[in-house]
Amino acid sequence: TNRDLEAARVAAETAARAKAEFLANMSHEIRTPMNGVIAMTGLLLETSLNNEQRSYVETIYSSSESLLTIINDILDFSKIESGKLELEDRPFDLRMCIEDALDLLAAKSAEKELDLAYQMDDEIPSHIQGDVTRLRQVLVNLISNGIKFTTEGEVVVQVRLQSAPLRTAAELPPGAPVIDPAIDPESCQLHFSVRDTGIGIHPSRLDRLFKSFSQADASTTRQYGGTGLGLAISKRLVEFMGGRMWVESTPQKGSIFHFLLPFHPAAMTPQFSLSGPQPQLSDLRLLIVDDNPTNRRILTLQASKWGMIPRSAQSGAQALEWMQQGETFDLAILDMQMPGMDGIMLAKEIRQMPSAVMMPLVLLTSMGVRADNPAFTSVAFASCLTKPIKPAQLHEVLVRVISGAKAKSTSRKSTGPKLDRSLANRLPLRTLLCDDNLINQKVALRLLQQMGYQADVAANGVECLKALERQPYDIIFMDVQMPEMDGLEATRQIRERQKTAGQPGHFKPEIAIVAMTANAMQGDREKCLAAGMDDYLSKPVRPEDIRLVLERWGSRASLSELNSSPEEPEAGDLELAAQPPVDMERLLDFANGNPENLRELAELYLQQTSGQVEQLTAAVKVGAAEEVRRLAHSCAGASSTCGMTAIGPLLRELERQGHEGLLSNAPELALSVEREFARIQKFLEDYLQSLPTPVQLAKT
Ligand code: ADP
Repeated sequence: TNRDLEAARVAAETAARAKAEFLANMSHEIRTPMNGVIAMTGLLLETSLNNEQRSYVETIYSSSESLLTIINDILDFSKIESGKLELEDRPFDLRMCIEDALDLLAAKSAEKELDLAYQMDDEIPSHIQGDVTRLRQVLVNLISNGIKFTTEGEVVVQVRLQSAPLRTAAELPPGAPVIDPAIDPESCQLHFSVRDTGIGIHPSRLDRLFKSFSQADASTTRQYGGTGLGLAISKRLVEFMGGRMWVESTPQKGSIFHFLLPFHPAAMTPQFSLSGPQPQLSDLRLLIVDDNPTNRRILTLQASKWGMIPRSAQSGAQALEWMQQGETFDLAILDMQMPGMDGIMLAKEIRQMPSAVMMPLVLLTSMGVRADNPAFTSVAFASCLTKPIKPAQLHEVLVRVISGAKAKSTSRKSTGPKLDRSLANRLPLRTLLCDDNLINQKVALRLLQQMGYQADVAANGVECLKALERQPYDIIFMDVQMPEMDGLEATRQIRERQKTAGQPGHFKPEIAIVAMTANAMQGDREKCLAAGMDDYLSKPVRPEDIRLVLERWGSRASLSELNSSPEEPEAGDLELAAQPPVDMERLLDFANGNPENLRELAELYLQQTSGQVEQLTAAVKVGAAEEVRRLAHSCAGASSTCGMTAIGPLLRELERQGHEGLLSNAPELALSVEREFARIQKFLEDYLQSLPTPVQLAKT
């Protein structure tokens, strides 16, 4: 009997493993046709359709997107079940991991007008050792459930350090020194929690929650959709990483999903620490106005840690009352969405108060606000913060606002059209597509075509190398699994040939290679990067992803070309060219190497500074020392950031004299500033003119 039982057990286990492996293979196979469905529907949506057709196609599109989510879930689940999951063990930045997860879901929560926030204990080391992708996946699962099952209120992520109970002095042997408890990796755990204020879960359903394919209530599927796999996967992943997961929930009040993870701090020092007092911010009085208590708490805590003096009001009315009673602040953070008086209305009121006409105001919103939004500009907000509040971003904004500098870039989340038909005009690139699958070829060719690119095709690695022997390419989209020679090998050979001088063909140094693969397997990305690829797209590829990749790698290729064949300066300009007033390298760097950014930045600098230089001259004339100091300071900051080297020392000297209240040779200095600025102006304008316009750039 025992033998039979044992045999049956082994057979059952083998069958289960075979089933899981089969699932894993199938979901991989399914991705290729899915790629065709999603990409072609996407393309169809870009054509002219009548309303009825559009609504059909949109339904196909969203159905295929959700089908893909399910396939991804199944793939994951089966990998775990078949024991094929491998965990990474590498140092990563924990904050970044949490912020990435939140960023992914910020739009969804903004749509539902929920507040999304996170808070992390200061003692937690910035870098820990582990599998960042899997941790992010668990967080995304829990946060997205929180958002899905909440209609009002907030979703808050919290991370605390949970150490082993410390021995008190009384327990120590007599005479033993009480040592400051250092972090002991053997006994330390991170306690993550994701709390929502949603529908909650009935106690009788709690035990079924983490079972695969089960949902708390059959009716939730109808109302909210989902596979019932998310939590099962999350729990297994956490257990795989050596932790455990559990839940607390009250129907109609909300749920808290907890998990504990053992952790090892990574030996890595952060670039600069945001945990202690910050000299630039210390003793500044900060007004915080937000109706959400969690946000108020997070902002207050963070500001106090940096040495600021925060005071938080739960409504605009309360803040105004304080100010009417004579309280003053150095700067304020106003939440946009508040009942009654919103952030913009409040800002208008604040601007009426004589003490706060110039007070820097920061708007806190869930959705990005465009810097040219009339409501935003009319009350002159100094900056905008997007929720969830992130310490690094908060710090950057506060320091910037206090020093009077302008935002670095407001276009981080560009909501441009999905397909940018003129991209190839702005960024002419020779593209090569390397893929053996006909559907994939067709999809990628069409996507590229829609952006104006005519890509050549190679069906495997050998053909790819041959193509490069024949003619040059700027960017190669490379499938990984191909017959004859796969993408990894092809990449290695290209990189090798680039290093060896005198190779026949066109193996110039700046060929970007982007992996495009249906293998959403763990470690795949790393393999591609290790083989020498620059970037990684997983199929089904979305037009937006291709656009981003083209912009990211394309601007590098086209800039290097620009630099290698500079326009001949005109005779009169030769002297200037010999001693440029602008450090172009620095400016280009700051513009991320993108000619469009560069143009925008240069124009912004010229516009802003010409106003400031005028005001500065006027202030010097009337001897307004404080005003001279302020203007010179702000102007010097912007100038040095943008690489205007020669004007800096003049401004710094003016700032110093303003600070001391002794404008000894300020008039001469102001004159030099004006002259130097004129030189910068001429230089930049010439440079911008010499930048090829999109028409000139177009391939003939
Ligand atoms: P699904 O894909 O169905 O969301 P999950 O495994 O993520 O699968 O969740 C399983 C079920 O658990 C959900 O259908 C829902 O009934 C319940 N659930 C999960 N998270 C929450 C939450 N934050 N609030 C209320 N119910 C939840």
